[in-house]
Amino acid sequence: MILRCDTGKVIEDLIENASLGDIVYSVPYDIDAKGMFSENYFIVTDKSLVSVSEGEVKYVLPKAKIEKVKAVELVGAGRLEVTSDGECYVVAKYTAEYMPQFAMIERIVQEVIDGEERAHESFDESKRCPNCGRNYLRNTRICPECSDKRGMVKRVAKMAAPCKNLYIIILVLFWLNSAVMLLAPEIQKRMINEAITNPNGSMSVLIFFVVLTALCNILTTAIAIVRRIVSVKASNRLVKDMRKEVYTKLQKMGIGKLEGKKTGDMMQRINRDTMRIGHFIQNIGIMAVNEIILFLSVAVVLFAYNWKMAVLILVPMPFVVVIVNKVRHEVRRRYHTQWRKMDKMTSKLNDILNGMRVVKAFGRENWAIEQFSAVAADVREQNISNDRFSGTIWPVVRFLVGFGSYFVLLYGGSLVVKAEMQLGDLMQFSTYASYLYNRLDWFAMLPRHLSEAATSAQRVFEVLDEESDYTNEEQKACPEIKGDIEFKDVTFGYKSYRSVIKNFSLHVKEGEMIGLVGHSGAGKSTLINLLMRLYDVDDGEITINGNNLKDIDRAYYKHNLGIVLQESYLFAGSILSNICYAKPDATVDDVIRAAKIANAHDFIMRLPNGYDTYVGEKGYRLSGGERQRIAIARAVISDPKILILDEATASVDTETEAQIQEALGRLVKGRTTFAIAHRLSTLKNANRLVVLEEGRIAEVGTHKELMDRDGIYAGLVKAQRTMNAMNFNADEGGGPGGRRRGPGGPPPR
Ligand code: ATP
Repeated sequence: MILRCDTGKVIEDLIENASLGDIVYSVPYDIDAKGMFSENYFIVTDKSLVSVSEGEVKYVLPKAKIEKVKAVELVGAGRLEVTSDGECYVVAKYTAEYMPQFAMIERIVQEVIDGEERAHESFDESKRCPNCGRNYLRNTRICPECSDKRGMVKRVAKMAAPCKNLYIIILVLFWLNSAVMLLAPEIQKRMINEAITNPNGSMSVLIFFVVLTALCNILTTAIAIVRRIVSVKASNRLVKDMRKEVYTKLQKMGIGKLEGKKTGDMMQRINRDTMRIGHFIQNIGIMAVNEIILFLSVAVVLFAYNWKMAVLILVPMPFVVVIVNKVRHEVRRRYHTQWRKMDKMTSKLNDILNGMRVVKAFGRENWAIEQFSAVAADVREQNISNDRFSGTIWPVVRFLVGFGSYFVLLYGGSLVVKAEMQLGDLMQFSTYASYLYNRLDWFAMLPRHLSEAATSAQRVFEVLDEESDYTNEEQKACPEIKGDIEFKDVTFGYKSYRSVIKNFSLHVKEGEMIGLVGHSGAGKSTLINLLMRLYDVDDGEITINGNNLKDIDRAYYKHNLGIVLQESYLFAGSILSNICYAKPDATVDDVIRAAKIANAHDFIMRLPNGYDTYVGEKGYRLSGGERQRIAIARAVISDPKILILDEATASVDTETEAQIQEALGRLVKGRTTFAIAHRLSTLKNANRLVVLEEGRIAEVGTHKELMDRDGIYAGLVKAQRTMNAMNFNADEGGGPGGRRRGPGGPPPR
């Protein structure tokens, strides 16, 4: 987000001449005091807040006198209100486009008020390259025009370095192959001159040269086979290393970064882009050195042999260069479009496959088919168009490249007719010329391959260059975790400028059970996300037995954490492996003990393969309640000191809920527990209930204390009672409510 935009020289001079201080932040806004669209800036200097509208300073509020700030969100627009010296000023009005910047300005000014001013980075979120104005590649911040291609080649070479011995072997084989190739026309010449056109030539000489030619071919074939085997080995090793590196990087990214990425796009980077780089190195990169050397050697031989005929070969070259240059941009544009459309198709496929149950549930199969068909058709059109273009342009270029051979045949042929040159010499020259053409043809295609590989490399490096969220992990401590947790003035927002948890403080003692309650969107899940360390707090700290959570070894901490979520994800594999997930070294006895605590042992034993039953992708072969009990077993197996239950019984029927509740009752004993449940009855065992409202603590107390207080919690309980009564009446009357109790469940009495 740009927090220091270019206001122009005029406004900079205005601020300087009025001695309003040095500009630290400046953001544009687009509505003036009369409600008209105009060009305005809100500026934070080191001394004051300044509002400039239409080139004039409208407000100057000294930082020292500011008391309050609020970025008010209206429908489709917003305004910044600043209270200074007891008076409230609307210092900027803006359309929705500028809301994120002003939310950030609110935060910055609030820090000024709190006396905790800190530097905030200004970064460009736009989709265009600031250098050339071209669009970045989709889902990236890569400008195909301005990226450092040389640096990239160096990086790829560095990644390929572990296989350098294999590449040396490939190069040696290439050179051997080139030597044989250069030798072959000489043999051909001598065969024609000494055996075929020579009246004194003998059959034995002819056989000798034919055998020599055949040997050359056998040798080049053998070299090609060995070269292929070695280069496939080298490139696959590079691809494997790159895939591992990208995948490791993704695993080391915090959930916040991963949420901003599309699954399909990431899969393309790990699968397609790495493969394309490997393919380029295998088929193009290593050959480049050889092709250049061969091209120069052949050119020297041709000029040395007959410089006039050599010049004739090059006659069409200027035209070819001009044409190739012209089509290069078009080819690149077309391939980028093709990739964009492929990415879109993969993302769409990924989205639909992930949501297949919803598609089926709503009977929207035809919609899903149409959606996918549309993007697939788009890709098909683009592929056909690109292939048609390439299929036309490259044969034409190839024809033009080889056009010089006609001049050579004409001129050389006339020399042979005049007996100034032997036929074998002409054939040798033509064969060398064809080598030269093949190299030129190869060079003409090089930009396309280069561009494809460069884009793929950039996409891979973009992931690798992301800052890892797991830094200095090896230096972190593993202090004893007993379950004493303290939130100290914790503030957090998924976007740094919009806080979801605000100045949250709470001390939870070992073994205490805390029920988190609040309206939807109050921040309950966010709070436990922080406790699970899926995100790090922006301000304040969370301590576990007096140690800052950020300083505790991540893996060690997670080992002490048991989590049961509303939708428990089971990996494809046996029940045993799923329960062992939290403790890979668990014994079968440990697994059975955990399953018994989770009330899961009996149903597992009834399954055909017991603990070895394969639960399939996402565990869909089990019922919701069964999955949930396996998740409880998984949570308990590592004997965690801290337990997190997020709507653990929300998606099961009442009977199963009773079994799960019973299991949870056993589970929470002696562990510090945070539980979220909309069905308030499930929190009846909590030692304290914490009611959240807009990210702050609104109420804390036992059920009875909060009911006596008659505040938010009491309101929620009453609402559930009313709803339950309505559901009960509907059930009694045989209405559509069904046998199951409503979502509220029985509230605590
Ligand atoms: P519910 O009871 O409905 O689950 P909650 O109290 O658990 O609600 P949270 O899920 O913590 O609420 O959400 C708090 C706020 O944070 C909401 O405004 C929500 O839109 C926002 N939010 C939640 N998750 C994300 C996310 N991954 N990225 C951005 N904003 C988010």
